[in-house]
Amino acid sequence: MSRDERMELQSKRLRKVVERVYYNCEPYRDRMQKAGVTPADINTIEDIVKLPFTCKQDLRDYYPFGLLSSPMSEIVRVHASSGTTGKPIVVGYTRNDLAIWNEVGARCFTAYGLGKNDVVQVSYGYGLFTGGLGAHGAVETIGGTVVPISTGNTEKQILMLRDMGVKALCCTPSYALYLAESIEKSGIPMEEFKLRVGVFGAEPWTNEMRREIEKKLGIKAYDIYGLTEICGPGVGHECECQCGTHLHEDHFFPEIVNPETGEPVEPGQPGELVFTTLTKEGMPLIRFRTHDLTRLIYDKCECGRTSVRMEKIMGRCDDMLIIRGVNVFPSQVESVICETEEFEPHFFITVDRVNNTDTFEIQVEVKEQYYTSDINGMLKLQKSLAHKLQSVLGIQPTIRLVEPRSLKRSEGKQKRVLDKRVFKND
Ligand code: ADP
Ligand code: ZN
Repeated sequence: MSRDERMELQSKRLRKVVERVYYNCEPYRDRMQKAGVTPADINTIEDIVKLPFTCKQDLRDYYPFGLLSSPMSEIVRVHASSGTTGKPIVVGYTRNDLAIWNEVGARCFTAYGLGKNDVVQVSYGYGLFTGGLGAHGAVETIGGTVVPISTGNTEKQILMLRDMGVKALCCTPSYALYLAESIEKSGIPMEEFKLRVGVFGAEPWTNEMRREIEKKLGIKAYDIYGLTEICGPGVGHECECQCGTHLHEDHFFPEIVNPETGEPVEPGQPGELVFTTLTKEGMPLIRFRTHDLTRLIYDKCECGRTSVRMEKIMGRCDDMLIIRGVNVFPSQVESVICETEEFEPHFFITVDRVNNTDTFEIQVEVKEQYYTSDINGMLKLQKSLAHKLQSVLGIQPTIRLVEPRSLKRSEGKQKRVLDKRVFKND
């Protein structure tokens, strides 16, 4: 669809969804009235900036069903966010919302080159978390064969991967790494697997991490993006070019705003991603602040798709650590570590405050073949990583080298940071 055609469709859908929330959901109506806007002020998609934002806190304040725009009799399913940050957020879906979710999910899996002859293992958690059921619905919609194994029991995961002739694996990138390690440890040769494609998301991962996983599993690894509030996995996907995540902007309209002021940024500039659901019925969200930081790319992609792309998510506004006044994202640390031959892509950041000064420590696993008792060699490794990180971050961490496979692995979203300062009030 051309940009103009799509804008027309977006405008039409925006008018409809604004009317829906205005007449069916009191908190939205109140807020719009306070801002002095009515549905009559919304004509084209560009009028979207007149509408007030919706925040994660609003979903908590109206927990569980206060933001529904459909009667409960129309709600056929609920999901809740995994609660990476704060109290869970509950979302209700109508039958039509689920159909749209399956449709956008199907677009993603089609873009990954998958179809009805392929077996797909869904190793995202099933349940309130959207990952499992979201990927599941998408695979069924394209007619593929789902192995709905959910998370956990890594041995069985490996067995299924091999015995079912699984072509595509869906899980978090950190779990993919763990599976790769476990396959290696099991001694089963990679040739016994038919795995070709990875569908990874639910947490930020860098291109450097992508290369690591692709190499370890011998696959092509694609991004899938989503969030419970909008629908779950399927809000966006990478294509064969792997150069940005295409967003399904005919259903979920993206904007980028300055996270501090809420002002829209110039096209192409980085900031906080904001979504308006254009077609949802159960719990449409207007200008929802995701906290995810990225940039939008409006040029046509080489794959031929005209939909807007976003750059890999750099992290969430709330992931950013301020250490001795310097802004640090765990994703920057990940890039440096993955680019350095001697280290495994596993690390853990601890920040604390001692004698009024911030401390910044990174534990990082050294690859088996480089982990030696030669103290000088180890010291050299430690120093060189500290320097590399200093030049990227602008602040030097204390590096603690640890044995391979000694840091805790995760089956879902990996926790990579402990900020002890939040427990102190000075
Ligand atoms: P939460 O993690 O907030 O409890 P969700 O399970 O709904 O809730 O996760 C959605 C969030 O996960 C997104 O807002 C984003 O921060 C992160 N996320 C999901 N997919 C990706 C992806 N492909 N790349 C980076 N981050 C992602
Ligand atoms: Zn593309």
